[in-house]
Amino acid sequence: MASNISRRAFVARAVTSASALALPVLANSTRTSSGQPAPTDSDKGILDVAVVGAGISGIYSAWRLVTADPATLRILGRPVSTGRRLRVTVFEGSQRVGGRLLSARAPDLSAICELGGMRFASSHKRVVSLVNELKLPHHGFYTSHSQNHVLLRGKHLRVSDLNNPALLPYRLTPAEQECVSKNGPNVLIKCALVNLLPGLAELHGDELFAYLQAAEVYGTPLYRHGLWNLLARTMSVEARSLVQATIGFDELGFNWNAVDLLMQYLLHTPDVTFHALDGGYDALPWMLQRKFESAGGEVVHEAWLEGLSPLTLPDGSVGVELQFAGECPAVKARAVILAMPTRPLELLLPRFEGLTPRSAVAFSKLLGSVTPDPGFKCFIRYPTAWWKATGVCQGHSITDLPIRQCWYWTESHRQQCGSELGEALIMVYATTPNVAFWGALGPGNAQTEPLTADACRAPSKNQDDDARLRENWRTHRAPAELVAELHRQILALHGVQSAPDPLEAISVNWADDPFAGAWHFWNPGVQSWQVTHQMAQPIDDLPCYVCGEAYSTMQTWVEGALSTADLVQQRLNLPPRVVQGIRRHGRYS
Ligand SMILES: Cc1cc2nc3c(=O)[nH]c(=O)nc-3n(C[C@H](O)[C@H](O)[C@H](O)COP(=O)(O)OP(=O)(O)OC[C@H]3O[C@@H](n4cnc5c(N)ncnc54)[C@H](O)[C@@H]3O)c2cc1C
Repeated sequence: MASNISRRAFVARAVTSASALALPVLANSTRTSSGQPAPTDSDKGILDVAVVGAGISGIYSAWRLVTADPATLRILGRPVSTGRRLRVTVFEGSQRVGGRLLSARAPDLSAICELGGMRFASSHKRVVSLVNELKLPHHGFYTSHSQNHVLLRGKHLRVSDLNNPALLPYRLTPAEQECVSKNGPNVLIKCALVNLLPGLAELHGDELFAYLQAAEVYGTPLYRHGLWNLLARTMSVEARSLVQATIGFDELGFNWNAVDLLMQYLLHTPDVTFHALDGGYDALPWMLQRKFESAGGEVVHEAWLEGLSPLTLPDGSVGVELQFAGECPAVKARAVILAMPTRPLELLLPRFEGLTPRSAVAFSKLLGSVTPDPGFKCFIRYPTAWWKATGVCQGHSITDLPIRQCWYWTESHRQQCGSELGEALIMVYATTPNVAFWGALGPGNAQTEPLTADACRAPSKNQDDDARLRENWRTHRAPAELVAELHRQILALHGVQSAPDPLEAISVNWADDPFAGAWHFWNPGVQSWQVTHQMAQPIDDLPCYVCGEAYSTMQTWVEGALSTADLVQQRLNLPPRVVQGIRRHGRYS
């Protein structure tokens, strides 16, 4: 049912010309340095690797491949090249690179808004090392402030009140009250579980993850529990509601896999700092695209993959044929990397030919080990930062109204409050149950990016960063009805009756196709640390690899997307990237 919506949207994008898929010609080669048969002239027109999806995991994978020593590449254990550069093309269904990284800027403002991923942590070793290697300028990102507003169950408080259980409109048990008064509501989960899982008190990062993988609770491995099934026995319903409300991310209150959800809660130690790229988070995939293209790679846009079949190549090895929507021609490749989340993979499955019933079932089961989770962001521009008169300026305020998180955007990028630039922007950030509220007021599925009839084309090489950011602003305008309701709730959160009307707003509902969610969570019963490796190459003897945030052990983060891309590179025999310059703590796979 939802599948029809997606197919309609993407077939509409891919209805005409197919001319841009001219492929570079292979050099002569007959035998590799190891003496094994190598590609020959008859392999002309066959890519070494086709990457589908130009989100961060896809474009990073492509860049790594095209800059790698070609002699090291092995596909299903076979060498591919005798020294010529690898032929790698990225096929992207939309008109832009970046996927769930989407930065935008209003024509007359300098602040960059992040409609998708916005920040990275000092513990994200892959991201930090990439940012350093690519010399992308960045700055601190400031998230909390004790004077920020809290509006829960109709009661107005400040963040500093959250440690005072007497002020909270929740009926907590005496033990929960004691826990809150020491550390605030966010540690209630730790307090509730520390007797069952003593390691929670002292372990961090990799050590904590290893401990949770092996842990048993009530005679059952922890990974078989849903976190909230477990907490139901040790925590009051009121405490659960309080944690969910104050953490701001409703999805963390759902019943996902206890191991992975606990890691989400406890991932970042207090010494971790957050950062944002000066040029917007999508500057990272854009920079990688430029590096990839200047190293000889090609990106083809508006090429929506809708079918995949195994193929015997002229040298007798198994390859793949990729079929695209509309009139884009089919492409042959020695290997394909599907760098996409769950929903597009599920759409592909019925057109994934040549699978035995057994491998189709196994692949489908792997796909179903995670669930996409919706997210919504909106940036509202005001003529003045009127909220400063209520004592707030930086970080975010919280409410249980559907707006949930209200970020004082411009000043969250500055260490000191008060530097008035005349750029008054609020970011509203809502997840899971509240996304449907905003979705009904939004532009609806398939309208979040413009459709054109120029399918399968190479992107313009001339678009500069500024043009890209302004184009993203222009194409994501939020409708007036949505903005009016957001404004009403923002006033309520700040306890004011009136404020200047918003000037304009942009929004994205990530529940729309093709993403179906802002991020993904592991379902109970799944051993994520194993599935992540199985997903890297989900079908035996087929050169088809999968990467991206969805099947990583650090879901919801770019770091997770990069970690699975690295796993795939490992399967292809590429040496690990040297990562440097980061703090300890944090979990890496
Ligand atoms: C609202 C929001 C806030 C976030 N905040 C943060 C944050 O602060 N920090 C952080 O680190 N991470 C954050 N994330 C997560 C981060 O953005 C993602 O983990 C990451 O961008 C995912 O990259 P990916 O390569 O796995 O997939 P995607 O970005 O989803 O890329 C997949 C690409 O594949 C394309 N595609 C899909 N199917 C097909 C097909 N059949 N044919 C052709 N192309 C196809 C899509 O168009 C897309 O471009 C956030 C995400 C959201 C949505």
